[in-house]
Amino acid sequence: MRKNIVAGNWKMNKNVFEAQQFMFQLLDYKRNNATNCEVYIAPPALYLMMAKDLYKANEIGIFSQDMSEHGSGAYTGEISAGMLESIGATGALIGHSERRQYHGETDSHCNRKIKLALDKGLTPIYCNGETLEQRKSGKHLEVVKNQTEVALFTLSAAEIKKVVIAYEPVWAIGTGETASPDQAQEIHAHIRNLIADKYGKDVADEISILYGGSVKPENAKEIFSKPDIDGGLIGGAALNIVDFSKIIEGFNV
Ligand code: PEP
Repeated sequence: MRKNIVAGNWKMNKNVFEAQQFMFQLLDYKRNNATNCEVYIAPPALYLMMAKDLYKANEIGIFSQDMSEHGSGAYTGEISAGMLESIGATGALIGHSERRQYHGETDSHCNRKIKLALDKGLTPIYCNGETLEQRKSGKHLEVVKNQTEVALFTLSAAEIKKVVIAYEPVWAIGTGETASPDQAQEIHAHIRNLIADKYGKDVADEISILYGGSVKPENAKEIFSKPDIDGGLIGGAALNIVDFSKIIEGFNV
């Protein structure tokens, strides 16, 4: 059975004291509340070791916000899959729209990164989604199909089962605009059908597909109730413990 997941992407926010405070608050929340989903955080890379030290029992998954498409070597500023493995990280976000927009990342890069992550036993959270222009011109299904095929369809069935997908329409990220639960469900079902066509329904049914784009405490429950939506990748609302924990509770019936 696929997992329900709530993952927080901090982006480039919080100094070390704020990061530590949030990590403690989240640990405290997890220890004192039964949750019906896995909880992950993706803090800035500088704080991953701190999270690892704090979350020794692996109560909370620890993800980098990106990783290199190269194994090792002269790539100044980069972090490799091997480095993430060596600190005991859970995985990495790959292909976030801000990496695509500001750093020229493509689905071919994502494909190489996903393979490297899987080779090191890390969980890739592969992000895709259409821009506003692409949605307005009715190309969203085709765009997401191309992204999914290029980034994922060279993987074996055993490999793709280990990938988490985050559908994040670019027009809904950090804008306060949310795809309606039905709009999100349509794309999630589309992605799952594409995977089913290529790898079979059993494989597709095992893959968690998260929705990302202005998820808030007020809309989380309804979004998570859709049959092909297995949780959320949360940006702004993952920065404070009150909102983030309410979103986690979107999975409590
Ligand atoms: C994100 O950064 O992946 C994201 C979904 O951000 P926000 O929740 O702020 O829209």
